[in-house]
This record gives sequence, C-alpha cells and structure tokens, in this order.
Amino acid sequence: MERQFTREIEQLRLREGETFHGEGILAVTKALLQSGVSYVGGYQGAPVSHLLDVMVQAREYLDELGVHVEACTSEASAAAMLGASINYPIRGAVTWKSIVGTDVAADALSYLASAGVMGGTLIVLGEDYGEGGVVAQERSHAFAAKSLMWLLDPRPNLPTIVNLVEHGFALSEASNTPVMMELRIRACHVRGSFRAKANRAPRISMRRRLAGPPEEFIYDRLAHPPATFRQEKLKSEVRLPAARRYIAEQRLNEVFEAEEGSVGLIVQGGLYNSLVRALEVMGLADAFGRARLPILALNVVYPLVPEEIAAFALGRRAVLVLEEGQPEFIEQEIATILRRAEVPAKLHGKDCLQMAGDYTVEVLVRGLAKFLGEHAPHVDTSAGAGWLARVGELRRDASGRLGSLPQRPPTFCVGCPERPVFSAMKLVAQEIGRPHVAMDVGCHAFASFEPFSQGNTLLGYGMSLASAAAVAPMQARRPVAVMGDGGFWHNGLLSGVASSLMNRGDGVLIVMKNGYASATGTQEVVSTPPEEARRRAVGESAVHADRTIECTLQGLGVKWLRTVNNYDVAAMARAYREAMTTDYDGLKVIVAEGECQLERQRRLRPQVAEKLARGERHVRVRYGVDEDTCTGDHSCIRLSGCPTLTVKDNPDPLRRDPVATVIDGCVGCGLCGENAHAAVLCPSFYRAEVIQNPGWFDRILERVRSLLR
Ligand code: SF4
Ligand code: SF4
Repeated sequence: MERQFTREIEQLRLREGETFHGEGILAVTKALLQSGVSYVGGYQGAPVSHLLDVMVQAREYLDELGVHVEACTSEASAAAMLGASINYPIRGAVTWKSIVGTDVAADALSYLASAGVMGGTLIVLGEDYGEGGVVAQERSHAFAAKSLMWLLDPRPNLPTIVNLVEHGFALSEASNTPVMMELRIRACHVRGSFRAKANRAPRISMRRRLAGPPEEFIYDRLAHPPATFRQEKLKSEVRLPAARRYIAEQRLNEVFEAEEGSVGLIVQGGLYNSLVRALEVMGLADAFGRARLPILALNVVYPLVPEEIAAFALGRRAVLVLEEGQPEFIEQEIATILRRAEVPAKLHGKDCLQMAGDYTVEVLVRGLAKFLGEHAPHVDTSAGAGWLARVGELRRDASGRLGSLPQRPPTFCVGCPERPVFSAMKLVAQEIGRPHVAMDVGCHAFASFEPFSQGNTLLGYGMSLASAAAVAPMQARRPVAVMGDGGFWHNGLLSGVASSLMNRGDGVLIVMKNGYASATGTQEVVSTPPEEARRRAVGESAVHADRTIECTLQGLGVKWLRTVNNYDVAAMARAYREAMTTDYDGLKVIVAEGECQLERQRRLRPQVAEKLARGERHVRVRYGVDEDTCTGDHSCIRLSGCPTLTVKDNPDPLRRDPVATVIDGCVGCGLCGENAHAAVLCPSFYRAEVIQNPGWFDRILERVRSLLR
C-alpha cells in the first residue's frame, strides 16, 4: 500500500505523560500497545481499516516491542488467530468490519467463546450501522449474546475509549471470555486527546518466546465434546458472574446524576455524544455536556449488571432506553431485570423512538420530547420543538430552492480499470441479450448504478459465483459472476470456483485483477505484484507481473481461462462473447487485468515528481473531444460513465444538443477512445500528449508544427 502513515506511527511511539492527539481508531491502536498486546491481526474494512493499516506499516517498531502483526486473509482467519490466547497468557487483538466480518468469523468465534481464553482477547468491531453503513444493517449485539462474549460500546471520547481497551483485556482475563468492542463510524473518527502511557513490551512475545506447549495437556481447552458441554455451563455459571463482578467493581458503566431525578435515561455508550447534543438543543444540557437529566451510559452493553440497572431505575417514575437498531436487545433485558427486581419505574424505549436505523440528533430529540411529555411534563422541551421546526423549515426551504436534484450515485474512480469491463459487457449484451449478473462486494459493485445497471444479486464477499450456482440450471443464458481479486482470495476461490468445478458448473466468472483489495483502501492481497515490479512499472499497469490468480485457477482445474487487458474494450468484448456462447461445458474464467487506478496514481505521483525535479522529460496522456465532430448523441457517456467525460453547451449556434467534453482530471486511461472504436461511435475523440521538460527534438517539432498551423 502506497499511503504512508508516518505521523500516525509517531503517535504510537508516544511515551508516558505525552499527549496523544488524533482519531478514535488510532487511540485504540495506541491503547493496544499500552495494554501489552502480543499479537494483532484483522481484516480491513471501514471504519476500522486504519487500525490494521497503521499496525502493518509500523511493523519495524512493533518488532522492537516483540508484537506480531498479521494482515489476515479473512475475518475467519483473524478470529482463529485468537486461538493463541486459549492456552497461553498472551494478549491478542483483532479487528474487522461488522456485521459482515463477524458473520464470516462466526465459526471460529463460537469455538473460541466456548473454549474460553486465558490471555485477554479483544475484537475491535467497526459497527457499520446507520446512515453511513455500507453493509447489511444488523447489529453485533446478537453475536455477543448468543455466544456469551462481552460487548463494549464506549462513549466516543478518547480517554474513555482508551480506558475501555485496557479494561477490555482485564475483563477478558477476569472472566476467561473474549471481549468485543463495537465502534461506530463516529467513534472511529471522533478527534480528541489523552495522556499517553508507556507502551508495554508483552511478557510473552516474538522476543520472549515460550519453550513450547503447556506441559500438562488440558482437554478442557479444546472446544470439542465432551468438553463443550462443561464449557456451556461454565459460560453462565462462572464466566458471566465473573464478568459482571469486574464491570461493577471497575465501574465501567457511568452514572451522570442530575437535578431532574424523577426520570432517567439509559443509553448505549456509543450514542452518548448524540444524546448530549440532543439534550443541548432542547435546552437540557450545557455546551460542556452537563445534562439536567440523569444518564446511565452503558460502556458495556453485554452483559448488563442487574444491580446497576435496578439501582439506577429505583425511585424514578420512568426510564427511557436509547438503543440504536433492532431488535431491542437491551430494552428487553432491562425489562426482565426491572421486573425481577420489582422496580416499579415505567420502562420506555422503542415505543418512543424508531425501531430501525440511525439515531440521529433529530430522532433523539423527538423521542426525548415524547418521553418527557408523558413522564416529566414540567420539563420545558419547547427549545427542542423550536429546533425541530427550524430544521423542518430549512429542509423545506432548501428543497424549494433546489427543486428535485438529480441522483448522484457513487461511481468508479476516474480511469478505473473495472469500468471498461462493464462497457464491454454492455456492448455484448446488445447482441446476445442481458444475462443474470451476480455481483460481489468490491468496487465493481458500482456497476450496479447507471450507466451500467448490471447486478441482480449481491450475497457477500467472494460469494458471487456461488450465488449464481442455482441460477445457471434455470436459465437459457449463462449467468455471469463478477468478483474482485480481494473477494477471490477472501472466499471466492473455495466457495465459488472449487464448488463450481466440483459440480461441473457452466457459468462465467470475471475476476477483476486490479492487484489490491481496493474498496477497503488498497490493502495488499496474495497476488499483489511485488514491490520491485511496482517500482519498475512507472507509466504502466503493474499487475501483469503477477500470475498467482491464473496459476491457482489452472492448478485447481479451470480449463477455459483468458487473461485480458481491461482497457482493450474490443478484446474484452471478444473474450466475453466467447465465454457466453462457446460450446465448452464448464466454468469459464476471464481474468480482467488492470491495476487499480487509485493505487497506480498514488504510486506514480511521487515517481513523476522526482522525474520532473531531475529535469527529465515526462509525457502525460490526455483525451479530448473534438466539438465539431461530436454528434451530441452521448453514446460515449452511456458506455463509459467516467466522471471526467461530461457535457457542455454546443459552441455551434445552429446545433442545440450539448456536446461531450473531457474536463480536468482525465488520467488518460484511454477508455473513451477504446469505446468509440469498439462500439463504432463518432470519431470525435482525440488523444493528446502533454510533454513536461521537453527535449530539443520536442521543441523543434513544436516549432515546425506551429509554422504549419
Ligand atoms: S479504488 Fe481502484 S478499483 Fe476501486 S474504483 Fe477506484 S480505481 Fe477502481
Ligand atoms: S481517457 Fe476517458 S475514460 Fe479515461 S479518464 Fe480520461 S475521460 Fe475518463
């Protein structure tokens, strides 16, 4: 990965008493080192990619501490890595995006939770729930509850987050249970500071190795019957009480008492900042977060401590539970706790607030107003009503001024190598008809939007080919599965390719070989071209230097295999047409080869800057549209979708249709020219070379040309 985290790594090196400034997720990273973690692993995914990206680049420093870092090939392998803490007093942490990553890791997690741990284990989850979420909207809470693993949800405040990381390990050890910490996108990116502690070199590490496995073989540490039956009992009879004891003794949950004590608010720690902001706009909290209503902030949302809940609710007329997402796990548990403790406080939650979706400040203000209106009508909430009215007015005013805005779906980067593949598929579909397209997780999923509108299903990372398995025998036309190289290595090779070969499937698979797990921040995969090849490939794609995907497919038994340069649209269309129409009965794989443009540009920029600084000649390619030739039918735009290929007013007063134009930002990938050629469009595209630091020959040539102009 070309992005450098030099400044972040400096923050990791902070010593006792120095001040850390930065984002929540980097604070977690520093807190892991302060906690004496021995190993760190994970699988990238927003909003926690940063943790692993920084750790991977900080390998040199972590080597000094003896901390092992592993960029795992999937969340399942990351979860399995925690097995190191079952038999040894070793602290370990892994990270991934949830809920999807937790789903992938489920097998290993269940076994880990059953066996229990000796060394503290912390799983840092990017809880991708709510308006910014890009995965299926579910909560990690269900996993914690079903496996009896503990779930932290710290207040988005750096000292609290760091404190909870340190306590997370201790809680895990006190209860022999893995601990998860969910961090929503706002918690990951909240900025702040905390007083750093010295990093702790772990007691057992790469530098202080164990001699071998435990001398005494303990069958009970294996999640295997009959041990699993005992472990199932241990969970509720020993580990759960131990965890509750630790949570209560260490006061991991926080009570903020306040003057208006007749009612109380119980909130997931992660929602605390939004709650305080909602109270502030209602005139019920000051700018420093001091609220007029008592709050119990649950920094640990599973398990709850019944005594804490009952004590908070006792003597109050009613309590409101603020819990984002469905179902209302916490509210149901609190209802049980209050009923068992015979606490008469009325319980509210989802009856005042929406069941599903993001709890924005606006949602919270509405819910709080409803709750207070019923149980504390003397509390003046008119400021909140006024604020809501102003928000509504602003919205109406904005929509009145702007009218209905055109949709702006997300799209591929400028010059992305995946765009030409979908152009080719679109062209071929005009001849043979539209096939069923099984999409996958990754950048190529942008093709489900205009102008490609391709993609009938999306069932998970690396699952596209598997998801087309039952479509193929039901349709006259072959289904097509599209998969990135990230998805291919994550899951697709076995779930899709091996399964298709074993079942003699007749589908078509397109593997986007762009060299990286691009959608998550261009992390390296096993087929990423070697560093040396990337350095050499100054102006060109570097991915052809690696044949791991092709060799793996051949080794597995794929007989119909083509590797095609993505930007050669005509060649791509030929290969695709052949795959769709050949008599060959079996899996057909097209490896679409083209380096991720984002990564390529990151790679090129410093190389070009150095070249220019040395005064060397450099040629940039740009494409343009001859406005006199452009017919204004915009077929090129419908085939390309490149954001730098757009329209402008026709300069010809006799023609009204806007003409196509290429604006700044073109990276010269050549797709527009290729499309025009492959689809036989109007010949309006031209290719220009911008020469920087021209040589004597360039200058003479330019002079001759200018004389002839
Ligand atoms: S990150 Fe790379 S693969 Fe993804 S859209 Fe951008 S250029 Fe394409
Ligand atoms: S050559 Fe065409 S498709 Fe490629 S970046 Fe430039 S305008 Fe976009």
